[in-house]
Amino acid sequence: MHTTRWQRYGRERTPHHMTNRRPWLRRASVTAVSAAALVALAAPAEAATASAAPTAATAATTAAAADVDYDTWQADCRAVMDEALPYLQQRIADTRPGEKQAIVLDIDNTALETDFGFSYPQPANKPVLEAARYAQEHGVAVFFVTARPGIIHAPTEYNLDRVGYESAGLYVRGFSDLFRDVAEYKTAQRVDIESKGYTIIANIGNSPTDLSGGHAERTFKLPDYDGQLS
Ligand SMILES: [Mg+2]
Repeated sequence: MHTTRWQRYGRERTPHHMTNRRPWLRRASVTAVSAAALVALAAPAEAATASAAPTAATAATTAAAADVDYDTWQADCRAVMDEALPYLQQRIADTRPGEKQAIVLDIDNTALETDFGFSYPQPANKPVLEAARYAQEHGVAVFFVTARPGIIHAPTEYNLDRVGYESAGLYVRGFSDLFRDVAEYKTAQRVDIESKGYTIIANIGNSPTDLSGGHAERTFKLPDYDGQLS
């Protein structure tokens, strides 16, 4: 059944240059189902359980009904990363003796173009990839902390690698984490990264729950348009 869904997405997928005037509502509804389908693809038997959590967010998305097009989203991401990259360059240049630096990235609508991609693998969010590449090339470990469930760990890892990220570690939510507060879960993963001896010089995400809770020298907030982008 999930194969049929993917085939349907294939027909509904629209190139970015054609999406500018598409109503947000239509795109949001496709995206919500798309996320569920990715879960179904990985493990159909567990799909119902794993997709239960995002339901409330989906309802909020539909209610807000903003019209955010791809170019606006990219410009907004670029503006944030235009501040993040010079900071990273300076902070990396100022590495202290013996310091192991790390950055932490959220995945959906941060590292990847989740709500604008409609394909697998999902494309990288280019302004974020550029900063990650700079970090990678200068010996900084790039960790990914996502609310995605553990059953899609493998396809997520493949996706990140395929589009150019060199992951030092991918944290996904285990079964018990699915019932845990997302901000608390994500903070706990940063504590775990620190416990391995890393200094987290930047934490980049698009939801408030990606960034609250400390355990990073700086945070950079990409747009979520009041919770419309996961
Ligand atoms: Mg996100």
